[in-house]
Amino acid sequence: MQKINGQDMKRHNVHLVINTIIQYGPISRTELRDKVGLTAATVINITNDLLEKNIIVQEGLATASSKGRKALMLNVNPTAFYILGVSITTRRLIVGLADFRGEVVDSIDVSIQNTITPEETLDSIQQKVQTLIEKHRVPREKLVGIGVAAPGPIDAHTGLITVPPDLPNWRNVPLQKLLEERLMIPVRVANETNAAALAECYAGGDEREFVFFISLFRLGVGGGLVLNGEPLLGFHGSAGEVGHLLVQPGGRLCGCGSRGCLEAMISEDALLEAAAAGGAGEISLEELFARSKNMDPVCYAVVKQAADYLTMAICDVVHMVSPSRIVLGGPLAEMSPQLLELAFRQVHSRSYPHDYSNIRLQLSTFGDQVFLRGALSIAAGELLQQRLETLGS
Ligand SMILES: [Zn+2]
Repeated sequence: MQKINGQDMKRHNVHLVINTIIQYGPISRTELRDKVGLTAATVINITNDLLEKNIIVQEGLATASSKGRKALMLNVNPTAFYILGVSITTRRLIVGLADFRGEVVDSIDVSIQNTITPEETLDSIQQKVQTLIEKHRVPREKLVGIGVAAPGPIDAHTGLITVPPDLPNWRNVPLQKLLEERLMIPVRVANETNAAALAECYAGGDEREFVFFISLFRLGVGGGLVLNGEPLLGFHGSAGEVGHLLVQPGGRLCGCGSRGCLEAMISEDALLEAAAAGGAGEISLEELFARSKNMDPVCYAVVKQAADYLTMAICDVVHMVSPSRIVLGGPLAEMSPQLLELAFRQVHSRSYPHDYSNIRLQLSTFGDQVFLRGALSIAAGELLQQRLETLGS
């Protein structure tokens, strides 16, 4: 019994040390000791062992104390481990490889049709994974696993994709199991918006944050929450579905069967219908946003109306869950800074609750890579941590 406890303690300490180096590296041994609260001897033993295994490396000298003494800095070895991320949306498939420092080493990005079958998708993922690991000579044992960000709804425990509305050939696809069988490495599958929320949470540098992510796609709107570095899924697994908040009673019919949902009112079709009804003719979404930016009255009115609907949804989110930060991403958010600016201004101008004025609203920092970053974050948050837990064994 004594031996097991000692082993558990060692594993815990190694895990703590490596995670602290991941978060704060490059870091001196003295700073590291202060942050982890272990004895100097324990920190030296653990770091020497990690250096020997080539999991961490020593970097140049830095001024480490008030007396100006120089100390060797420790950092994780970027090539010690690798993770893969896969982002599946209705128009694109991206497979990316990231190193142990979270840097995206390379990615392959292809257009797909929404009529793609699960089998074709699996073939394509397998081939791209193979290309990346061969090109960058990643040894099998250094590959920790794959995170997948896919359209929901998804059973988060089993990685089963149930009925994605925009991928008609996908019904009850056990994506996690199928990918694991093909690639023989651990896989975790998450809803794309929950994955994006996790990526934003990690990027913010404070995992205690409460991040609400809103994805604006051409065809739909998704929402995802992350609190303390964990996706918040709710009792039935569908928490945060802002796309189906009612913003216009009796409005356009939504894919869910109801009328007036946010996603029915601000989707590409809705915006183009409204522009045509206003006399703008048959124009593309790109053209609509460009004309609105130049203050064409019809197109501006359409974008302003969409911003009003978005404002209603954001205010509901603030009232219901009071997140520390609301981040918007996805193709529609990228395409029209004006839409977001109009919505953000209206949200900030409201008076109750008192935190409206300082609530942080922003466009995703990852641009069109946000769902790939989300997929990598899913792999880093769970699969990489599982691997690191075994280092002290
Ligand atoms: Zn709906």
